[in-house]
Amino acid sequence: MKYSNIHCPTLKEDPASVEVASHRLLLRAGMIRQVASGIYDLLPLGLKVIRKVEAIVREEMNRAGAQEVLMPLVHPAELWQETGRWESNGKELLRFRDRHDRDFCLAPTHEEVVTDLIRKDVRSYKQLPINLYQIQTKFRDEVRPRFGLMRGREFTMKDAYSFDCDEESQMKAYEAMKAAYERIFSRCGLGFRRVHADSGNIGGSRSEEFMVLAKTGEDEIVHCKSCGYSANTEKARTLLNPSTLAKESFESLELVDTPDQKTIDEVVKKLQVHPTETLKVLLYQTEKGPVAAVLPGHRDLSEIAFQRALQAQNLRPLSPEELAQYSQVQFGSIGPMGLKEAIPVLADILFDSTIVEGRRYCVGANQNGKHYVGVQAGIDFAMQAHQVHQIHKAEVGDLCCDCNAPLQIERGIEVGHIFALGTKYSEAMNCNFMDEDGKEKPMVMGCYGIGIGRTAQAAIEQGLDEQGMVLPPAIAPFEVVIDVVKWKDEVLQSKALELYETLREHGYDVLLDDRDQSLGAKLKDADLLGISCRLVVGHKGLENNQIEAKLRWEKEAQWLAPDKIVDWIKSGFEKKQQAFLTADL
Ligand code: ATP
Ligand code: MG
Repeated sequence: MKYSNIHCPTLKEDPASVEVASHRLLLRAGMIRQVASGIYDLLPLGLKVIRKVEAIVREEMNRAGAQEVLMPLVHPAELWQETGRWESNGKELLRFRDRHDRDFCLAPTHEEVVTDLIRKDVRSYKQLPINLYQIQTKFRDEVRPRFGLMRGREFTMKDAYSFDCDEESQMKAYEAMKAAYERIFSRCGLGFRRVHADSGNIGGSRSEEFMVLAKTGEDEIVHCKSCGYSANTEKARTLLNPSTLAKESFESLELVDTPDQKTIDEVVKKLQVHPTETLKVLLYQTEKGPVAAVLPGHRDLSEIAFQRALQAQNLRPLSPEELAQYSQVQFGSIGPMGLKEAIPVLADILFDSTIVEGRRYCVGANQNGKHYVGVQAGIDFAMQAHQVHQIHKAEVGDLCCDCNAPLQIERGIEVGHIFALGTKYSEAMNCNFMDEDGKEKPMVMGCYGIGIGRTAQAAIEQGLDEQGMVLPPAIAPFEVVIDVVKWKDEVLQSKALELYETLREHGYDVLLDDRDQSLGAKLKDADLLGISCRLVVGHKGLENNQIEAKLRWEKEAQWLAPDKIVDWIKSGFEKKQQAFLTADL
């Protein structure tokens, strides 16, 4: 392709109010433009990168035995009502009415529609297993669209759905998708981790996320270097390091004054106690009624873990008015004892036991300016075994629950997510089959998503420098760019064209920069766009039958004879790909 034919409006200046580097680069490289919040145009080179990611995804899905389909973006409300998600999905689901006053939504995901498709035509175990996928537009009315393609409202997802006769067969589909995902993200040159994840609104029993490691990632993950355990902090099970626990200092139950102490830090200072001797109580509302979370005073609550432990659909802190029903203090001195009305208490597990039963703690007394010290968990306030869950958020310094080694906390961008769904959707929607014994059973399902735009942008976020993108050849907008010191020079031009044809014959995706601009400006654009290899044709080199060649990720350029260039590029790209595969994260 010739540069002069491409609509690629690069920007010299950084666009304003952009939070992450990859978003800035996509705008500067003329790859995307915003239409509305979270809604983007993909320009020719942006689309080219996206199509390359899609091609890799498609190839690996087909290889894993999934079949491509295309389902609609507009869904009738009735299907979503069958699973209850029409109501439970809240405002993220964009609903609207047609001219006949019928309710519809724009698809945020396709479990309902694909389950409907399968139940219409599949009756027998002989027709199973089936795994269908599509690469298609989704719409989610995100609370905070941001970071360009990373968290859009309209975005492209690859979503696959598997239908099996039983759990064992479903696990095979799950494993096949997991292996395909590993290949996809490696081929995209990403440094990623597969982590245990929460199933969230989708539901199901087992799920894992694929996280691209990046400081700007919105997710936090726990990783054990020693045994490899990795989990989203929302889901991670961690042990408190016992050496950080203070020796107990309270002997008996006592009411003490804490007139101006609202925070744990202030209480700890005033009473001269260790933070691990304090408990905090947080009151929440769910659709089942109010509930109290009790956890060590120095730890944060994981609302997701709390909600999962409660098996609640909705969770929010009590409003000040609701709080007044239970405690006479608004905050600061709330505790599990002396609440005006009984509230079920859910306590946190730290290390292998509870907030240790019988151990004495300092906790709010539900009286203004008062705390109790010497409160015995499980004695002074009820804490039944089945109400004890891990609800604290994992922190640096916690120990691995599998091997006791110290854990590290990293940030990641979730690019893919795989779920074992069980029969949640097939039961709700009567998606049944006849098994070998003539018995009717619900199908066992799995679903598997990849954010296409998010994957492309994560690759940009992970590999960039001051000049621009440093993309892996597999997904760069072009693999090679040919620059000419002076385009109008006929000798140079014909040499460049010759090189262009040779490289194209060898299957390379080549850009010929035929603009009548300074070499400096052209090289800047090549670097900004992240083109993997750049070749410069000039008289100085040609006098010695040489061309200047440089790989985007290397510092130094090299001089090469034109007939050596194809092999040199091939081996340079292979080395780069190998480095991605063997990178030690
Ligand atoms: P997140 O937690 O980031 O909101 P999610 O868990 O809701 O994502 P899934 O339902 O698991 O997302 O969707 C599958 C994949 O689709 C995600 O792994 C991600 O790569 C992509 N994705 C989800 N939401 C968006 C979005 N708003 N913009 C771009 N890609 C998205
Ligand atoms: Mg997810």
